[in-house]
Amino acid sequence: MPDTLIKVDLKQSPYENEQVHNRWHPDIPMACWVKPGDDFVLETYDWTGGFIQNNDSADDVRDIDLSIVHFLSGPVGVHGAEPGDLLVVDLLDIGAKADSLWGFNGFFSKNNGGGFLTDHFPFAQKSIWDIQGMFTKSRHVPGVNYAGLIHPGLIGCLPDPSLLEKWNEREVGLIATEPDRVPPLANPPFAATAHMGKLGGDAKAKAAAEGARTVPPREHGGNCDIKDLSRGSKIYFPVYVKGAGLSVGDLHFSQGDGEITFCGAIEMAGWVHMKVEVIKGGMAMYGIRNPIFRPSPITPHYNDYLIFEGISVDEAGKQHYLDVNVAYRQACLNAIEYLTKFGYSKAQAYSILGTAPVQGHISGVVDIPNSCATLWLPTQIFDFDIRPNASGPVKYIQGGPEMPLSPDL
Ligand code: ZN
Repeated sequence: MPDTLIKVDLKQSPYENEQVHNRWHPDIPMACWVKPGDDFVLETYDWTGGFIQNNDSADDVRDIDLSIVHFLSGPVGVHGAEPGDLLVVDLLDIGAKADSLWGFNGFFSKNNGGGFLTDHFPFAQKSIWDIQGMFTKSRHVPGVNYAGLIHPGLIGCLPDPSLLEKWNEREVGLIATEPDRVPPLANPPFAATAHMGKLGGDAKAKAAAEGARTVPPREHGGNCDIKDLSRGSKIYFPVYVKGAGLSVGDLHFSQGDGEITFCGAIEMAGWVHMKVEVIKGGMAMYGIRNPIFRPSPITPHYNDYLIFEGISVDEAGKQHYLDVNVAYRQACLNAIEYLTKFGYSKAQAYSILGTAPVQGHISGVVDIPNSCATLWLPTQIFDFDIRPNASGPVKYIQGGPEMPLSPDL
C-alpha cells in the first residue's frame, strides 16, 4: 500500500491539522515532501471541514461562515520541481472515507453565498446522498440512483508572490465596482478565519492578510469543479514556486456540469491516491498558462439523454447579447420545469441537476443575438421513464419526502 502522507480525523477541527490550509499563499510551508515518481495517498476533509452534517435540517447550510472554506490537504512539496516546470499528477484513485460513506448537496441562501439559480431558490436547502460502493442515492430525492464520477473539485499548486498579487488586485478591483452587491462579486482576503497550515506567529498573520481565497478557479487550476477531472485523469499543472506545493480537496462523489447548486456536487470527505512527475521547463515548452488534463479511461456509461436547450433570453423575456450564462440558466430552468411533471419538487429537480452526471454544453456563440446552451440529462439514472410520449408524464413521485429547507432568520 502507498504511504498516507496526510491523514485527517473527521472528529478533529481542521484548524488543528497542520497539513491542512484554506488560503493560497507562497509562504505556506510544505506539509510533506515527495520525489518525482512517488505515489502516495492524501486524505481530505469535505470542503467545509465537517460543518455540514448528515441530518434532515438545512440550518447548517444556512448558518455556515463561508470564509472558512475550502479546507485543502497539502501543500505537497515535490523535490526538483521549480518555477516554469509542469507538475504531472496522475489521479490513480479517489474514494470516500470509510467512516463517512455519505455526501451532501445544498443550496445556499441568497444572503449567504447564493448559487446559479439563487433568485429561484433563495433559501438554504440540503439533500444527503448515501454512498454504496460506486453508486449513490438520496432519502431526500427519490427515484434516482447513479454511478459516481469521483473527482476533486479543487486541486492546484501554490502561486508565487507576483501571481498572488495579480489575483488580489484584479479581484479587489472587481469588488470595488459594486461593493454592496449580494451575493458579492468576489471574496477578498480575510485573515480572521485563515488557516495557513504550519505557519505561525507574525509570518502567519502577514500571510493570512494576503492569502487568496480558494473560491474561484485561477491560472493554477484551483477550484475548477470539472466533473471530468475524475479518478484516472492525468493533469499537467503550471509550477510557480520551488517544490510546486500541490494541494487538493473539495472531493465530489458526483457533479453535473456547472456545479450549479454551488454547495455544490455531492460533497464528501475522502482520500486521493496520486502519483507525481515533473516536466522540466514544460510551461514554456508547451505554452501552458492554465492546467491541461487527459480524462479517465473509465466513466459512467450513460448514453441516452434528454437534452434541454436554452437561449440568451432571460426569465423576464429580456434579450441578452450572446450571453452563455443566461442561456445555460434557461436550459437548467427548462429541465427543472420538465422534471416537476413527474412529481418532483423544483428543489429536488435542481438537486438532481447539480449532482448527477449531467452534461452542459456551449452549443452556439455566433448566431446573434442568441447564444445557445444545452443541458444533457441522462435518462438512465431514473427509476422510471422520463422520455416524452403521447400518454403524458406519470407522476412517479407522489407525496414523497421533501428536501429540508431553512428560511433565513
Ligand atoms: Zn465542492
